[in-house]
Amino acid sequence: MTIASLRETEAGDTVGAQRLTDGIHLVVDALKLNEVEAVYGVVGIPITDLARLAQASGIRYIGFRHESAAGHAAAAAGFLTRKPGICLTVSAPGFLNGLVALANATVNCFPMVQISGSSERHLVDLQRGDYEEMDQLAAARQFAKAAYRVHRAEDIGRGVARAIRTAVSGRPGGVYLDIPAAVLGEVIDAGLGAASLWRVVDPAPRQVPEPAALDRAIELLASAQRPLVVLGKGAAYAQADDQIREFVERTGIPYLPMSMAKGLLPDDHPQSVASTRSLALRRADVVMLVGARLNWLLGHGDAPQWNPDVKFIQVDIASTELDSNQPIAAPLVGDVGSVLAALSERTGPGRITVPAPWRDELAARSADNVAKMSKRLAAAETAHPMKFLGALQAIRDVLRDNPRAYLVNEGANALDLARNTIGMQVPRHRLDSGTWGVMGIGLGFAIAAAVESGDPVVAIEGDSAFGFSGMELETICRYDLPIVTVVLNNSGVYRGDAAASESGDPAPTALQARHDLMIAAFGGRGYRATTPDEVTTALREALALGKPALIDCVIDPADGTESGNIAHLNPKGITVQR
Ligand code: ADP
Repeated sequence: MTIASLRETEAGDTVGAQRLTDGIHLVVDALKLNEVEAVYGVVGIPITDLARLAQASGIRYIGFRHESAAGHAAAAAGFLTRKPGICLTVSAPGFLNGLVALANATVNCFPMVQISGSSERHLVDLQRGDYEEMDQLAAARQFAKAAYRVHRAEDIGRGVARAIRTAVSGRPGGVYLDIPAAVLGEVIDAGLGAASLWRVVDPAPRQVPEPAALDRAIELLASAQRPLVVLGKGAAYAQADDQIREFVERTGIPYLPMSMAKGLLPDDHPQSVASTRSLALRRADVVMLVGARLNWLLGHGDAPQWNPDVKFIQVDIASTELDSNQPIAAPLVGDVGSVLAALSERTGPGRITVPAPWRDELAARSADNVAKMSKRLAAAETAHPMKFLGALQAIRDVLRDNPRAYLVNEGANALDLARNTIGMQVPRHRLDSGTWGVMGIGLGFAIAAAVESGDPVVAIEGDSAFGFSGMELETICRYDLPIVTVVLNNSGVYRGDAAASESGDPAPTALQARHDLMIAAFGGRGYRATTPDEVTTALREALALGKPALIDCVIDPADGTESGNIAHLNPKGITVQR
């Protein structure tokens, strides 16, 4: 029997004396058994029926315009829920488009499974030139935490279980699951099929270090003159908010939140040293990293950004992360929740104290920095044309009244300035370009946040960054999601005031768009704002409506720095005429 004839008879029907099922039904049944509630994808051969059946079976299917955005949505769903986000793609080109997101999920330690249909193995492997021919498994392997292929319908349950387990256990990441068209269409006995499925039990088991390892860390913290805790997005992912707060507040240690850890404790918490980050890193003598890697975002732990004599404690689920950049004096391998609970339990009252001179030093520098920033903000408030900081202050004030709103953020200046201007009050409500500093996550992340939570989302986008996923405005409108996209439009990559070349072509960094008109084409509400007051009015109205909206903020084309805060990563060479 073929898949087409099975569709006509419906799986589960009796053909002769036998009840039957097929690969597509088994995939959907396996996902349901593992409590998958949403699938993000783009349909086409050979997975269109899979999406239809998932939807008919009660799984929410969100259909995108590009697989990369669908994949980013699945990755964000994984980060927010601690369950692997599922992305569904078609063969070869669709698969490759999704692979960017799978790789990004892996780099960011977000659990995700990309399930892709693929072409016929007997044609692909002999390179006979099949429709969308590609050895997808081989391609995926180098970009994912793991990659598996299912060859028989009876192995679909095993493949799904294995993919889910691998995605969430240990250090989370992206897993690729290849299911060729022939397997999706394979018909088998329904009883055998049902018996081949299983539900993954305890997919991310708790993991606690030895008491001696805990005591080593406590000893170091107790001896510190200038201790510091750095909270990373692994801490946010762990959903150990109470344990983190308890440990930080009980010890009184100053803490620095990495961008996606903002809100684990509210950003106006008295122990936060976000406003005196450079001093904290340069002076701290014992630093406890909690779900944060010493990668480029933390200057690899090197002097002069860091105190050359600093001693590190590192809490991480992945033992191989430790010693990757600097010696780790006290390794704590385990999940953040269990480790911090155990540390709190073993730290007697008064055992760890923070010397007053350290607190005073940080407080004095923080007061200086806050005063300097206030001057910049005040100047931007009245500037015309509008500056990034003018628009961002307006957004900040509206968001203060809407703490449940998720904030998605990407761009160069739009990312750096929004991160520093807008405080977060709630854990896991800030999603951004992450470890790669990647552009294109914006609308996919926003869609996942809205779908998974039902809460409003504000996506603050640089005009260049927005372009990578801009067509997903249609997806937002089609599913009527409460997402307000705010484009900080300075008409260019970095800035929009570069002169055209002598040939008459626009400068490489030039852009032009009326983004408010774009969303109108899809049925959403577009606003154009040229002053901070107009931003405030539009954002308040859009959030109150709870409907798809876009605010095109017209920013001074001369505002913005090349590459934002990371200009030093550009090659030096000979200066190019700007
Ligand atoms: P940031 O960019 O915010 O500094 P990173 O992505 O560099 O954060 O670091 C996240 C780290 O958190 C990774 O090394 C990852 O292994 C770790 N991690 C992820 N989940 C957990 C968990 N549940 N418990 C402990 N560590 C975790």
